[in-house]
Amino acid sequence: MSHDSRIGLTSDGLSLSRLVFGAWRLLDGAVPPAAEAVARLIGTAADLGLTSFDHADIYGNYEVEAAFGAGLAHWHGKRDAIELISKCDIMLASANRPQNRLKHYDTSAGHITASVDRSLSNLRTDYLDLLLLHRPDPLTDADETAAALAALVKAGKVRAVGVSNFTPSQFDLLASRLPFALVTNQIEMSVLKTSALTDGSLDHAQRLAYAPMIWSPLGGGSLFTGTEQREARVRAALASVAAETGAGDLATVAIAWLLRHPARLVPVLGSMKPERLAAMVKALDIVLDRQQWFSLLEASEGRPVA
Ligand code: NAP
Repeated sequence: MSHDSRIGLTSDGLSLSRLVFGAWRLLDGAVPPAAEAVARLIGTAADLGLTSFDHADIYGNYEVEAAFGAGLAHWHGKRDAIELISKCDIMLASANRPQNRLKHYDTSAGHITASVDRSLSNLRTDYLDLLLLHRPDPLTDADETAAALAALVKAGKVRAVGVSNFTPSQFDLLASRLPFALVTNQIEMSVLKTSALTDGSLDHAQRLAYAPMIWSPLGGGSLFTGTEQREARVRAALASVAAETGAGDLATVAIAWLLRHPARLVPVLGSMKPERLAAMVKALDIVLDRQQWFSLLEASEGRPVA
């Protein structure tokens, strides 16, 4: 038995790879990768089946999209063989945005439209497969924001729209003003961060039948480096399930734990290392049984379920 390797988003054929390559950390190394190295990484990811690439305008202090776009220009594959995802609305206080006096959010029509145009230009493409609003903005005027999003879809600049870090009620408000369905909510979840199981996020996703994307599926690496008791307990439980399933790698089991949930979670992988990405792709072939799944929940919470 294995997990589906693609997840359909829309009735007109848009789908994502079940595991998505997250580009947030692309420029985190001591030396920024040259365009050829980025092209190799894109090729490696695509060959592993990670055809969907998750971006945001702000990643790498507003510099990741352009570095990735330079890599795409060197890559030999076809644009329509991959899916490009980006986000907008977080405004960083950054030397690259001197007009931002403080960190804030902006879901105005003007900002969304300008941000998408910049993402398209940086990524050297003429469409995004998926645009997400990055964070809920308390000053959102749902009619204005929805009209801007609908106009981007109508113009062919964006194939589908979703949100990130939204509560179900924030999701419903925006959805109520759009002429099409929101296709995802990208939220934080991992075996270390389990609140989505009980805060209504995953119930909402199943009720409306959209596949939630999952960020920091390894707790941003703290699953391996964390020194708290919880992290140590989870590592021990992951090792035990890895031994039972022959998974070979703790990260593989941590991803398999997410894939086992019926809401069709789509983990966004943050590693920049091909061998680690390859290990996590093996999770597609590992279906945890209920007791393996609950043993990891128990280790995370530090107590058996009631
Ligand atoms: P993650 O997969 O939880 O963490 C990745 C980090 O773990 C990397 O620094 C990686 O380092 C490290 N790591 C350490 N040991 C590892 C091992 N054995 N296997 C794999 N990785 C290991 O994900 P994340 O980077 O925090 O987030 C993933 C993606 O989610 C981001 O790229 C971004 O696209 C998205 N995101 C979205 C939001 C949002 O608000 N929507 C917020 C944060 C992130 P190496 O590179 O050295 O392997």
